[in-house]
Amino acid sequence: MDVERERTEEESPQKKWINNMIKSAKKYHKLCPYYDKKTGQCLLMVTVEGRPGKCDRDGRFDGCPVFVKFLEKMYEYYTSRKKVLPRDFHDVVNQAYLVGLM
Ligand code: SF4
Repeated sequence: MDVERERTEEESPQKKWINNMIKSAKKYHKLCPYYDKKTGQCLLMVTVEGRPGKCDRDGRFDGCPVFVKFLEKMYEYYTSRKKVLPRDFHDVVNQAYLVGLM
């Protein structure tokens, strides 16, 4: 049952889009684009979690829950407004402010 649910979630359009965005992000960024190397701050934390915070992953965004939550919110933003979903992370990277508008 759990395996089935997992599989369905894996194949959901949202999950698919998020995985594609992470794959695309890796093409452009070795480290998370929202990671401030000097201070260690996560620049997404305020918009996504509503509080400032440090990155405890040294900028490794693959599998980062904050990064995934950001993409989930972006997905909601686009689909709830019936907008075309970006196909490349390059088109999403500077749109974190949109999450704050939701
Ligand atoms: S916590 Fe996640 S989203 Fe934030 S800087 Fe680190 S890797 Fe990036």
